[in-house]
Amino acid sequence: MNRASPYLRPTIDAIPAYIAGKPPQQVSSLTSYKISSNENPYETLPEIHEAIVSSLREVNRYPQMDPIALREALAHRFSISTENLAVGTGSVGVLQQFIQATCEAGDEVIHAWRSFEAYPIVTAVNGATSIAIPLRVDESHDLPAMLAAITPKTRLILVCQPNNPTGVAATNEELRDFIEQVPEEITILLDEAYIEFVTDPAIPDGVELFRELVDRENIAILRTFSKAYGLASLRVGFAIAAPIVASAIRKCAVPFGVSGPAQAAAIAALACEPQLMKRVSAITAERKRVIDGLRLQGWKTPDSQGNFVWLRLGNETKSFSELCTSYALSVRAYGDDGVRVTIGEVAANDRFLDVAREFQESVRVREGS
Ligand SMILES: *Cc1c(COP(=O)(O)O)cnc(C)c1O
Repeated sequence: MNRASPYLRPTIDAIPAYIAGKPPQQVSSLTSYKISSNENPYETLPEIHEAIVSSLREVNRYPQMDPIALREALAHRFSISTENLAVGTGSVGVLQQFIQATCEAGDEVIHAWRSFEAYPIVTAVNGATSIAIPLRVDESHDLPAMLAAITPKTRLILVCQPNNPTGVAATNEELRDFIEQVPEEITILLDEAYIEFVTDPAIPDGVELFRELVDRENIAILRTFSKAYGLASLRVGFAIAAPIVASAIRKCAVPFGVSGPAQAAAIAALACEPQLMKRVSAITAERKRVIDGLRLQGWKTPDSQGNFVWLRLGNETKSFSELCTSYALSVRAYGDDGVRVTIGEVAANDRFLDVAREFQESVRVREGS
C-alpha cells in the first residue's frame, strides 16, 4: 500500500533555509574570529550580567505576558507612549508579527534585494508574497522602483536602514520624499537594526521621523537589542508604531515569547546606554579604519553605516571567503554577489585587512598587472 506524506503547504518547500553566519574554522597557531554574523564583539557589561543572573531565580515562573516594564523603559527612552510599543523575540520576531498583522495569503511585501535574508523567508512562511526590488549600483535601496512596485495587494514595505549587507542608508530627504508618496494604508517599516552605528548626519533617526510625522499612522520603526546592545542570544527587539498598529502587532506575539532574562537584560542595557554607546563609537572608529585600509589597497567598498563592510566580489566571492577561512576568519558570503565582514575585535580587523591585501595581490599576479 502506498503511504501518503502528511500534508504540508506547497510554499514551504520553496522557502530557502536561513543561512546563519558560520563559526570560524580552527587554524593552528591562529586565534579564530567569527565576523560573519554582525555580532557585538564586547563581553556583556557586569551590570547587565548581574540583571540576567538575578532574573534566573524566577525561571520557574512565566515572564510578564506583555513586558510592560520594558515598554515603559523604552517609552521613557524614546519620548513616546507605551501604546506606541510592541516587544518581541528579536526584531525578526516582531517583523514576523508585522506580516501576520498586515498580510492575508497572497498579499505583497516589498523589500530591497540584496537585503536582510530573513525578509523573503518570514514573508513566505506567513503566506505572503515577497516582491524583491534590486539595489541600485551604489548599493542603496531603489526607492522609486519600490514605489513603482506598489499594487492593490501591497500591505507592507520594508526599508532596511542602513541596508544589511551593503551598509548603505537612504538620506533624510530621500526617505521623506518616499514616505510622502506611499499610500497611507500601506505600512512602511524602517528596519533600523544598525541605526546606532550611523555616523553620517544625512541619515535620519527613524524615531525622530516617526515623532515628527506622527499623523501618518503608516510609519513604523523596528529596532533590536541584538547588535549595539550586545544581547543577540537573548532574542529581544521592538517596534515603534501608531497605537492602532502597535496593538495589532502585540496581538500576534507568541505568548510569553520574550523571556524574563531577556526583559531584565534589555531594561539593564537601557540603563547602561552611555557605556554601550562608547563601545559603538569604538566600533565605528574601527569601521573607518577598515574602510580606509581597504580603499588604500584598491578595493571599492561603500561607506557602510553598519557594524560591517561589504565587498561586491561577484564570482570571486567564494575564493575570497575561502581565503578568510584559511586564516581562521569566518565571513558571510552571499552566492555570487559578495562578502559581508563584521567589524570585530581590533585583531580580527587587522587580520581581515591582511587577508584582503593578500587577495588583491593574488588577483594582480593572476591578471599580470
Ligand atoms: C541583525 C538584524 C536584525 C536583528 O535581528 P534580531 O532578530 O533582533 O536579532 C534585524 N534586521 C536586520 C536587517 C539585521 O541585520
